[in-house]
Amino acid sequence: MSRIDLHLHTTHSDGSLRPSEVLTLAKAANVSALAITDHDITTGIPEAMAAGQEFDIEVIPGVEISSFDGQSELHILGYCLNWQDEAFNRQLATLRASRHRRNPLIIERLRAAGLDVTYEEVKSLAGTESVGRPHIARLLMQKKYVTSAKEAFDRYLAEGKPAYVARELPTPEEAIGWIREAKGVAVLAHPTWVKATGEGLRTCVTALKEAGLGGVEVHYSTHNKTQTAAYLELAQRLGLLVTGGSDFHGITKPDIEVGYGRGDLKVNPRLLDPLKEASAHL
Ligand SMILES: [Zn+2]
Ligand SMILES: [Zn+2]
Repeated sequence: MSRIDLHLHTTHSDGSLRPSEVLTLAKAANVSALAITDHDITTGIPEAMAAGQEFDIEVIPGVEISSFDGQSELHILGYCLNWQDEAFNRQLATLRASRHRRNPLIIERLRAAGLDVTYEEVKSLAGTESVGRPHIARLLMQKKYVTSAKEAFDRYLAEGKPAYVARELPTPEEAIGWIREAKGVAVLAHPTWVKATGEGLRTCVTALKEAGLGGVEVHYSTHNKTQTAAYLELAQRLGLLVTGGSDFHGITKPDIEVGYGRGDLKVNPRLLDPLKEASAHL
């Protein structure tokens, strides 16, 4: 049986593999359809589509936008959108500019902590417009300050650590609005990031639905069975679509595989048609 994977990152944001390399892994994993969902950027989509034709894998145009609701950083996935829409891409460019203001501040703090790193080194390692903290983590690994990306975050980069710098982010409602304007379906990524459970979670997702949210990422690499069941129940109760994906990043998240997550992820290809139908009605 084939599977799908609707959450994948490439070198166009903070993944370590090119789109065509991700598609090669997807082919080996018997993935029949996938979405490249790079952070705040759509430039990886053409290469993915070309490779998709070659490997006979359906490529759904996607994106992942970071947002902040005042309490939690929420990531909003966009699917089946007009990824070449000019207004949408201008909006994404503005978001990336806010990262460009943040990254040098992070580097300053790392230098103040005694680490010999420069922003030029991060940019040349990243080789993309969408530079993020995982690139900084990789530089710290290369320079042997840490042995893993996780250690880089735990010691320096995560919220509350010495090199953490808050970022200006849109609200989830704004991110959903941009995706909708580009005729895409907006989906709440990894809902475990919502810092609320039970009734609080339901209230949060209900508000997002009112803002135009179309689905919830029920199936995800780190979800246990209880979480998957709870998010499925929530999506069904609110009449939201169910999606799923690995959040593959390559070397930055070495335990996550395309199509399989940590080994037990399986996203059913049947979830794809409702998503495409929803986008056709936008
Ligand atoms: Zn995310
Ligand atoms: Zn992601």
